[in-house]
Amino acid sequence: MEGGCSFIPGYVFEDIAALQDVEKDLKELAQSTLDVAQLKDIEKDLDDILTQLDELLRQEQGDRTDQDSAFEAPGLTRKIYSLANAGIGDAKRNTDLAQLVRHEASPDSIEDIAVNKCYEYFGDVYNFFSELFERNSIDNNGMPLIGVVHYGTNYANAQWIADKKLMIFGDGFARDSLDAAKPKADHTGYFGNFYDSLDLMAHEIMHGITTCVTKVVPGPCETGALVEHIADVFGIMVKQHKLQHTVEQADWLIGQELILPELKDMALRSFKSPGTAYILPNNYGRDKQIAHCDQFKPWADPHINSGILNHAFYLAAMEVGGHSWEKLGKIWWKTLTESKIDFSQLKGTWVPFARKTVEFAQEYGQGVQNAISNAWGSVGIKI
Ligand SMILES: [Zn+2]
Repeated sequence: MEGGCSFIPGYVFEDIAALQDVEKDLKELAQSTLDVAQLKDIEKDLDDILTQLDELLRQEQGDRTDQDSAFEAPGLTRKIYSLANAGIGDAKRNTDLAQLVRHEASPDSIEDIAVNKCYEYFGDVYNFFSELFERNSIDNNGMPLIGVVHYGTNYANAQWIADKKLMIFGDGFARDSLDAAKPKADHTGYFGNFYDSLDLMAHEIMHGITTCVTKVVPGPCETGALVEHIADVFGIMVKQHKLQHTVEQADWLIGQELILPELKDMALRSFKSPGTAYILPNNYGRDKQIAHCDQFKPWADPHINSGILNHAFYLAAMEVGGHSWEKLGKIWWKTLTESKIDFSQLKGTWVPFARKTVEFAQEYGQGVQNAISNAWGSVGIKI
């Protein structure tokens, strides 16, 4: 299995797991989430789940054989599977209990906030790309958006699994161990509610689109940071579009919802001020994103260096004004889909991407071109 991207980067949990003086429960949470992030267990689990999902999908298709056989790409198609009854109280997960709990043919909300939010946000993300970029889902051919909620045991993260074409959502410790759907009152960790972050859900779906368009998957180095940046840009635009926020009204924060409410006014990343989004208590860790090429860290986690590119987008957006998706969003989309940049051959530079954004800004006038060009220069990218 390759090409995954976790909502919370691995280094956040590595910082906690490496500490000596840390609450036992929190250390175990960090360690167990890292184990899953490092794919020690996840591949076998997913294979089991996907075998079961394949069977369910075959049954659904079999039910439709009396319909018109002429193929027409479907539109919005969501399938939310729940593992809420799987393996509770057991060390061994029982994947036989995965259930399709909400989909287009059964659209009513159920008594499970993770399921309902996932279903709603998948729709928001689909509609954003459909209305603004005429994109029919991840593959532009109506690929179902599949979410698997209540994944694992105390799995404190969510993840897009590129080669499985689905998203998994853990519950972390923000869950009653006896009632999978019920949030736990006394959170032990600091991360939860992974189903409730529209920008991160859009970020993960954008990874799928980027892989379809460029053939590159999330990874290290400059290409990895650029891929993370593109996912964050479209992630934040989906949120701003849902809220109809202008660039001045927007908070420019990614992942605010999954920092549990005991920690006020924190998020996972900040476009406006990379490196300041969160500080965990007791020196458990802090936002490590950077905002300028002077601070570039070779081989660092790509979510760290992507702060440089994110900040450039923010600076350009504030200069251009209005809604981020109206001009900059169109320019970034065109650069991704029409520039013919070979993303796998960037060889340590973001300059080809940056230059194309300026070139494609031409149709919006000199002011927009200058705003983008100046923004790249402000973060140390000389075009
Ligand atoms: Zn990512």
